[in-house]
Amino acid sequence: GEALAVSARVAPLGSRLVMLLVEDLTEARRIEAVRRDFVANVSHELKTPVGALSLLSEAVMDASDDPEAVTRFAGRMQIEATRLTNLVQELIDLSRVQNDDPLEDAEPVRVDELVAEAVDRCRHAAGTKQITMAAGGTADLHVYGNRGQLAAALGNLVENAVNYSPARTRVGIAARRVGAPGGDFIELAVTDQGIGISEKDKERVFERFYRVDPARSRATGGTGLGLAIVKHVAASHGGEVSVWSSEGQGSTFTLRLPEAGSARDRAHQHPDLD
Ligand code: ADP
Repeated sequence: GEALAVSARVAPLGSRLVMLLVEDLTEARRIEAVRRDFVANVSHELKTPVGALSLLSEAVMDASDDPEAVTRFAGRMQIEATRLTNLVQELIDLSRVQNDDPLEDAEPVRVDELVAEAVDRCRHAAGTKQITMAAGGTADLHVYGNRGQLAAALGNLVENAVNYSPARTRVGIAARRVGAPGGDFIELAVTDQGIGISEKDKERVFERFYRVDPARSRATGGTGLGLAIVKHVAASHGGEVSVWSSEGQGSTFTLRLPEAGSARDRAHQHPDLD
């Protein structure tokens, strides 16, 4: 098609240039396909709660002489509305981390504050499941970056650890400094004793809307966007996120971020994350 036509035309310029052009077009097509998939996924994800709300409102009208049923339907409408709100909020967050330059408002951020914020965010969910949360090693450590984005990233990891763990287990958050040639990093490891992730799924959980078990994710208010947001935040800060997991035993997600004051502070990358 198009790519071949272009390469035939520029063939005399040398095969290297041809290769580059063909690669460029393939890459452009790939990005376009990813974008189309994303729009299709968003539409589908929006339609589900909206469809449920529409059916439930009909049910409420039909059940006007049965107050108990009305209350039950109204409760379910509230759940669907919350789901919709979560989804829209996460879409806004994702778009923000994809489009904003995180290092524009970058500053040294205390690790103990980030951890306290993440724990606070999950306190209620953890409490109802009697999950113990413990943090260690955070004193005197500072990462460099956008406070809001870093808080969102760590918060998502801790939230997942709580959501994908059975009752009466433990979620640990450990921080440590790791030396690297171009500057030091801070590693934040979130460990749970939850359901774990299979080898095959491990590679995919960072994709937008990918969920191992969609029903379970929805039941906990999940949107399938959390880890995509974490991955973007990590990469745009010059860090990375990785996962170790054993099915049925638990998982550890490790967020590696540049330490404040280290040479990597301003390492600024815009990797292709689609
Ligand atoms: P969700 O909103 O569904 O939690 P995420 O992007 O945060 O979306 O995670 C994607 C999927 O990865 C989840 O649906 C779940 O299947 C899996 N997952 C994430 N964190 C964990 C964890 N700590 N333990 C087990 N599975 C996890």
